[in-house]
Amino acid sequence: MSGQPTRVAADGAGEGRVLTPPCHGDLQTAVPDAWTVLVVDDHPVARRLLEAQLEREGYLVITAANGREALERLSGRFCPLVLTDWMMPEMDGLELCRAIRGREWDSYIYLILLTARDSLDDVLMGLEAGADDYLVKPVHPMELSARLRTGRRILALERTLRDRNREIARLAVTDPLTGVYNRRYLMENLPRELARVRRYGHPLGLIMCDLDHFKEVNDTLGHAVGDEVLKEFTRRLAGQVRQGVDWLARCGGEEFVLVLPETDLAGSLAVARRLRHLVAATPFATTAGPVRVTASFGVAARPPGEADSPDAEALLARADACLYQAKAAGRNRVAGPGGR
Ligand SMILES: [Mg+2]
Repeated sequence: MSGQPTRVAADGAGEGRVLTPPCHGDLQTAVPDAWTVLVVDDHPVARRLLEAQLEREGYLVITAANGREALERLSGRFCPLVLTDWMMPEMDGLELCRAIRGREWDSYIYLILLTARDSLDDVLMGLEAGADDYLVKPVHPMELSARLRTGRRILALERTLRDRNREIARLAVTDPLTGVYNRRYLMENLPRELARVRRYGHPLGLIMCDLDHFKEVNDTLGHAVGDEVLKEFTRRLAGQVRQGVDWLARCGGEEFVLVLPETDLAGSLAVARRLRHLVAATPFATTAGPVRVTASFGVAARPPGEADSPDAEALLARADACLYQAKAAGRNRVAGPGGR
């Protein structure tokens, strides 16, 4: 994804002026910095007239002489608005509409068909081919302007919906308190990670960790402080993992799972020991003052090669058994398979 989401000034307020709001981070869309219109017409003069008008109104204009060229332009640079002539050599406007609708794009493309053909049959055929709107030549500049404004309104709605859907999808797999993934994400994605490393014979490490005596923190200092401790705990853990490779999920209460793709048992044990130290070494700052916290860690790994390929549940069960050993041996420690 590239570019920043953009908005056009509300109707009537500086019409045609393109405003660029601050970037929304991962809610970025593929729509370029200003509204881009792809103008497709085989007639050079018609093309230039449209181009001049749209540029005056603040659009970025890209042109193509027929449908085939238009598709080439679109694959090079996404364009949310397409204004196309019908009658053109090589690939006409109807075929272009169908070709655009037949593909997956980064977001919706609003298509306006521009033509001298004005019978009811023609209009219906154009809309049937996938055009959103239909304009009969010669088009009054003000009408073209208004139709494009409608297109932008539809596109803006579509973009809002898409951003919201993405946000809903993100929230559905996120633990609201700590911001790390939730159990649902773990159970959906661990099998996927395992399938991927199995295909290449690569290792995968799994660390299950649990805060020691966490109930006492909640009981003596209250749940609000308990929440602060959980947040600081995940912050310390997350600070130690490889960005975009390793991931952390909260499985419930004070129990977390750290997934380490491409990491064998020795590597995973080393990470767990580092994390154990990082948690125990310095007290957690809370609104109730510094709180000493320790955690126990159970480590399991899928070894490289083919020999041993546990599924997600089996790997979690192994890490859980090790975590149990770490707890039983006195907490604030790391346990791996075979008492390592
Ligand atoms: Mg033509």
